[in-house]
Amino acid sequence: MTRINTCILSSLFLAATLAAAHSDPGPTVSARARAIHDSAIVVDTHADTPQRFLDQGFDLGSTDPTDIGHLSLDKIHRGNLGAEFFSIWVDPETNQGHFAQHTFDLIDSVYEQAARHPDRMMMAFSVADIERAHRGHKLAALMGIEGGHSIENDMHLLRDYYRLGVRYMTLSWSNTNEWADSSGDIGDAKVQHHNGLTDFGKQVVLEMNRLGMIVDISHVADKTFWDAIATTKAPVIASHSSARTLVDAPRNMTDDMLRAVAKNGGVVQVNFFSGFLDQKYSDSLKAQGKSVNYIEVDRIEREWMAKIPRPSFKVLIDHIDHIAKVAGVDHVGLGSDFDGVSGATPQGMDSAADLPKITQSLLDRGYSSDDIKKILGGNLLRVFQQVESVSRELQAQSQSH
Ligand SMILES: [Zn+2]
Repeated sequence: MTRINTCILSSLFLAATLAAAHSDPGPTVSARARAIHDSAIVVDTHADTPQRFLDQGFDLGSTDPTDIGHLSLDKIHRGNLGAEFFSIWVDPETNQGHFAQHTFDLIDSVYEQAARHPDRMMMAFSVADIERAHRGHKLAALMGIEGGHSIENDMHLLRDYYRLGVRYMTLSWSNTNEWADSSGDIGDAKVQHHNGLTDFGKQVVLEMNRLGMIVDISHVADKTFWDAIATTKAPVIASHSSARTLVDAPRNMTDDMLRAVAKNGGVVQVNFFSGFLDQKYSDSLKAQGKSVNYIEVDRIEREWMAKIPRPSFKVLIDHIDHIAKVAGVDHVGLGSDFDGVSGATPQGMDSAADLPKITQSLLDRGYSSDDIKKILGGNLLRVFQQVESVSRELQAQSQSH
């Protein structure tokens, strides 16, 4: 989830007049690219669609041609998306006092979709499940909690979420919680910070390792990132983050962080939000926000954001390419942030149906089909498998003593 702002600077009025009707559809997908793409297990680690399920009654089976959402079962099929980690994001401002209840409601909304469409999707909790779904030509639906505030400082709740099927947790969203500093408010002196992770925060990371829940460092403050890397016994992911060398956003990862994730064996999943991919776009979005519910935010943002010229498809590939060069091709993947960025993606990336264009662009830049398949999902599956295996080892150790 990327909450932008409801008050936009006057520069946007100017930007509006500059917005061209011209939209580049991105690369044309060749038969070769299509074949490579279709032979891969494509994994996306971040989509905010559960808010649409819960707040708008959206059904993933929708075939409404006017629907502007990034995900539907048809779009997923056209893009050969094999596994989606649906984001369980609880707005910390509008859900004060009942984070857990809203977390459970969002989890339920994902299960309800899977129950409605058993022929085309299934709940998945492991690498083996993802592979089983792939063989059955179904979408593997997984869940990741976006923001450690969902556990309400309670390790029991963390374990309950694991048992319900949650397989990653972003240590913080844009809000600093009581045990992890966030990049979203690290400059706000009114917020009580902890210099990274508290002792309890480190225990959360270790318990996630033991359970087999992937530690996600997207959104966290830089010091929280380094504390998480120093604490974890398993590889980590950035479920939806891009490169700070290319766009100076605190949510993006520095080259030192990219190298640290590589050393840790983890993977950085590139976010498709234009504000994280294109510096000019990012500069146009500097403004102050205020609290409104998701639908209002989305409606207002869409009106404004539609007036800012979208960057070209190329910027998305530039981030994948940069991370592949700095961290290595084994440490980059896809974390779209679909349905969480108010439609603000590069030109040519309008829904999951456009994912094969990434394969085409990577081929055009000289990537081998094996490396492309790693980026499309192989790297994430490797990390997930390692997290599962570390969990088994840690549980075996605790049983034998
Ligand atoms: Zn997010």
